[in-house]
Amino acid sequence: LPRQPAAAPLVALDIGGTLIKLVYTASCEGGGGGAELRFAKFERRRLHECFDFIRAKGLLGCNGTRSSKENVQLKATGGGAYKFADDFREKLGVCLDKLDEMDSVVSGANFLLQNVPGAAFTHMNGQRNPADVSPNNLFPYLLVNIGSGVSILKVTGNRKFERVTGTHIGGGTMFGLAKLLTGCKSYDEFLQLSQKGDNFVLDLIVKDICGELVCQKQGLSTSTLASSFGKVITSKKRLTDYKPEDLASTLLSAFTYNIAQIAFLVASLLGLRRVFFGGSYIRGHKSTMENISFAIDFWSQSQMQAVFLRHEGYLGALGALMSYGD
Ligand code: ADP
Repeated sequence: LPRQPAAAPLVALDIGGTLIKLVYTASCEGGGGGAELRFAKFERRRLHECFDFIRAKGLLGCNGTRSSKENVQLKATGGGAYKFADDFREKLGVCLDKLDEMDSVVSGANFLLQNVPGAAFTHMNGQRNPADVSPNNLFPYLLVNIGSGVSILKVTGNRKFERVTGTHIGGGTMFGLAKLLTGCKSYDEFLQLSQKGDNFVLDLIVKDICGELVCQKQGLSTSTLASSFGKVITSKKRLTDYKPEDLASTLLSAFTYNIAQIAFLVASLLGLRRVFFGGSYIRGHKSTMENISFAIDFWSQSQMQAVFLRHEGYLGALGALMSYGD
């Protein structure tokens, strides 16, 4: 990290559609002049909590008592950096230096991959292993950033990338439906519910359509998902007859497999074999990573690998922080 006097932490923000991500430096305990990174997130609708946090931690330097805060600039990315620039000026007296979101996400991913040993890992068959990533074999790769929506980028080097495509059916869609269908109040509650549920109560699998014998004859796997939520159609049950746990489990698997399949298709079209996944959707959640890995492995016949990143939700904010060194 660029060396900074201890009194002036570096602060960067990524204000997305759902969450505000904040990354800042703090001097390492034990001194030595080094700095460590700290992370915090807030719901976008609770912007005031982010302001309180920035003030309480003295992130504007001199515990916020600096006389001319007008001169303080915070690096910020994400759509909200534009939308809330006035609020930051009025409430915190700081100016946001706005950075392109995709540039920031790619810089953040490249920073982690090139500077933080063990930042990249695979998660498959219940095992988490460090990914074999080195500066020699890193590029090109596909970066799938799953936030409120999904952005898919082909990264060919430092600052070299192309936003290939994306999908609006992303984390916001899943969590929005989850709130409506399960009544969950938070994303973590939704994830916890999903772990207690059984998606086969609502999902139609191949066996349900063909019967076990035909499946065996045709060499189809009986447990392959044929239609997410497909069993609901032929059932007399109403929404309230389903357990929130089962609904949560079905939602998580439907969206996760779908996004992973799109990632696979884009990687195939571009001839890329390694796909990194970022964005707060993943939230370090084991079964989400397992399902993504399974899907990539399944569709690619083990030719592609899904790789996850520590601090996956903070790629944009990290990239914005790195731009202090520019
Ligand atoms: P954005 O930049 O669009 O806000 P993020 O990468 O922060 O995107 O991801 C937002 C998504 O992450 C949400 O749509 C939801 O699926 C998931 N998520 C993870 N943690 C939370 C949380 N605490 N509150 C709401 N959504 C969360």
